[in-house]
Amino acid sequence: MNLSAQTSKQNIFDLTLEELGINLEQAGFQKFRAKQIYHWLYTHYETNFDAMNNLPKDLKIYLNEYFTSQNISINKKEQSQDGSIKYLFATQDNLTYEAVFLKMKEDKFTLCLSSQIGCKVGCSFCLTAKGGFVRNLTAGEIVYQVVAIKKDQNLPNNKAINIVYMGMGEPLDNLANVTQCIHILSELDGLNISVRRQTISTSGIAPKIKKLGMLNLGVQLAISLHAVSDELRTQLIPINKAYNIQAIIDEIAAFPIDSRKRIMFEYLMIDGINDSLENAKKLVALLNKIKAKVNLIYFNPHEGSPYQRPQREKVEAFREFLLKKGLFCTIRESKGLDISAACGQLREREINQKGEI
Ligand code: SAH
Ligand code: SF4
Repeated sequence: MNLSAQTSKQNIFDLTLEELGINLEQAGFQKFRAKQIYHWLYTHYETNFDAMNNLPKDLKIYLNEYFTSQNISINKKEQSQDGSIKYLFATQDNLTYEAVFLKMKEDKFTLCLSSQIGCKVGCSFCLTAKGGFVRNLTAGEIVYQVVAIKKDQNLPNNKAINIVYMGMGEPLDNLANVTQCIHILSELDGLNISVRRQTISTSGIAPKIKKLGMLNLGVQLAISLHAVSDELRTQLIPINKAYNIQAIIDEIAAFPIDSRKRIMFEYLMIDGINDSLENAKKLVALLNKIKAKVNLIYFNPHEGSPYQRPQREKVEAFREFLLKKGLFCTIRESKGLDISAACGQLREREINQKGEI
């Protein structure tokens, strides 16, 4: 088969169960076949249509002709001492993106997914930003991270995992595909990952937070705040110029959330830049009226970055202050520092070694 015929095939991981059912019906097959295919893909992690042994031969021929399930591959896998594992994926057009599998306490797992290759937001501390924006990931390319890693980790279909859209890219800049992915991952007859277990992290694109709220998906929201003054936040996250801290806070106040849940504010701790108790005090005042929780993240240094990681004592003092003032606060233990787990770092290393892009 020639390459153009191959590339015109649709990635089967792009489709919701409903869409697949409609597609099959229009092609003259019974709609329930979609459930069987979903079962193979998401319960058995079987990507070879010919191995789906309860499908009729003509359906297998149809699937092979019009769909692909194998156009993404795991390129590299790195294990860190704390058990987190970083995966590098390669797309059909030979681009790479990464996901991190995190082993949390009590046999709990979290998967950190990428939503774009590169990013337009251009944060000064982020390695993903360095290479600029390449392209959005398709819904199927985002979904495949979960299927491939669950398969590789031998995790049974009914093992609950959490999903965080905190890998490469700005999920709200690729909202249509991320929304499609959320629907596919939460499908009862598929991976069945509840929307409540899925968290979108954003740099704070206010109008898109509003749009996400209007979609009322039921997902959790995390805001990468990182600063309490607009001056500093604009230095760190340039789009703060367009959507400043107050604009974000206003959108959050109107955002529909589960009454038992809180909006997470991620706060990167950068040595000598934003980690003083004065900053902590301002943070308490800023989040005063919001049902918030704060997650403090150690800055993860990378080559060429102008920032440093603060001492543990400073981060702990910051946390103590917030707790004393009644603000929920956790410290994200830097998972997989030894495999450079901050977003974009495995990909960057690969590109440097291979000279790609
Ligand atoms: N674009 C979205 C989601 C992807 S980034 C966002 O910005 O929220 C996910 C998280 O990784 C963000 O909170 C981001 O600030 C953080 N991050 C980026 N570079 C980092 C670094 N070098 N060290 C630690 N965290 C980093
Ligand atoms: Fe993009 Fe998030 Fe990195 Fe900023 S921190 S450049 S928004 S991926």
